[in-house]
Amino acid sequence: MEIVVIGGGAAGMAAAIEAARHGAKVTLLERMDRVGKKLLATGNGRCNLMNVGEACYPGGSAFAQLVLDKCGVAEQTAFWQELGLRLRVEDGGRVYPASGQASTVLDALRLAMDNLGVEIVTGASVKDIRPGKHGFTVVADAGTWRGDKVILAGGGCAQPKLGSDGSLWAIAERLGHTLVQPRPALTQIMTDTLPIKGLSGIRVKAEVAVVKAGRVLHEESGEVLFADYGISGVCVMQCARFAEQGSVMRLNLLRGMGFENASQAEGELLRRKAAWGSQPMEKLLTGLCVPRLAGSLCMEAGIRFRDRLVGSLKDSEASALAQVLGAFDLPVKGVKGFDSAQVTAGGLDVREFDPATMASRLVPGLYAAGEMLDVDGTCGGFNLMFAFGSGLLAARACVEE
Ligand SMILES: Cc1cc2nc3c(=O)[nH]c(=O)nc-3n(C[C@H](O)[C@H](O)[C@H](O)COP(=O)(O)OP(=O)(O)OC[C@H]3O[C@@H](n4cnc5c(N)ncnc54)[C@H](O)[C@@H]3O)c2cc1C
Repeated sequence: MEIVVIGGGAAGMAAAIEAARHGAKVTLLERMDRVGKKLLATGNGRCNLMNVGEACYPGGSAFAQLVLDKCGVAEQTAFWQELGLRLRVEDGGRVYPASGQASTVLDALRLAMDNLGVEIVTGASVKDIRPGKHGFTVVADAGTWRGDKVILAGGGCAQPKLGSDGSLWAIAERLGHTLVQPRPALTQIMTDTLPIKGLSGIRVKAEVAVVKAGRVLHEESGEVLFADYGISGVCVMQCARFAEQGSVMRLNLLRGMGFENASQAEGELLRRKAAWGSQPMEKLLTGLCVPRLAGSLCMEAGIRFRDRLVGSLKDSEASALAQVLGAFDLPVKGVKGFDSAQVTAGGLDVREFDPATMASRLVPGLYAAGEMLDVDGTCGGFNLMFAFGSGLLAARACVEE
């Protein structure tokens, strides 16, 4: 059995190893000058490769769950053990290599491919796949390959400088597959910058919601980082697939400042008015947040600082500021593009693939795995976990069917 795997990323390397282990002759075609470039950049260079908690896939969750039911934590842990990679579980069920270095994950994958005789061809950008009577002809700019089966593992188009540029989607479409409009996910959000002017670099703990026409579309909590274009941070990135023009990012800063609700915050502001009456108004939020943020929040609540003392705070101003602390609204201008995104939402329509085998329901002998498919997970190791799991399943099915 000859198998051509297209794409030397997480899904493609797992598939190549598993297929070769089952006796297949495997060729791995990669358009970049080396395999696994994106893998090295994952988890801030530490590679958060799996999550032992509840599966979390805002895109394609039913399909992802079926894949992970067949090849989830237990099966993937066994795969890594076999490769000699020791793992460590950290907060939130995030799994990393014990070494703390993504390069050790890539080294383990490369060694396994080497031991199993996988032929790796780099600099081979696939341009066409032609199904024939007996398998497929795969045409790349570097040559032509024949395979009884083909596994598509070209990724999405997040951070194309790391390899995945979406070029395999067009080929899959020519073969009859449907592409669900790709869009950047897990990325920073661009907002109106006036309310956050001068806050770049400041971090706050917040509950974050995407709100449109009074309806909450998505909620997260965690650390928000202000930037010159808007906001960032894991919780913000997880809101990106829901944020659109016309929506606002609502930051609730109350809990992060130690308040249960807005009325408790209002009570504290009025207490300060009485106790700190002779202090300049700039000091009103001392101990709750850094002075630069205090200035922005007070401005948002319409509280003037100039020539004013805390004692001059009006009841209506205390109420308005408490409301702002609970709902600091930043109108959304858009999200950062694929160059900054960590993952692609959209991709090949999963209804056209069997989640038990990753086989195409349209083209016999064709399989797909990883981010090429319309599946995207939250931060925490879910995207790599889906890529590895689906790659392993595709390979097993290829050699068994
Ligand atoms: C900065 C960053 C950090 C991340 N951190 C994490 C993390 O810690 N945990 C996590 O779970 N996820 C993380 N992700 C997401 C995760 O890396 C991806 O979801 C995952 O790599 C997808 O695997 P894949 O094999 O499907 O695609 P990729 O890893 O993108 O691999 C696809 C490969 O196919 C090749 N290719 C594409 N088209 C062709 C073609 N026409 N011919 C030949 N080769 C082709 C590409 O060059 C690439 O090497 C991160 C992403 C980024 C960008």
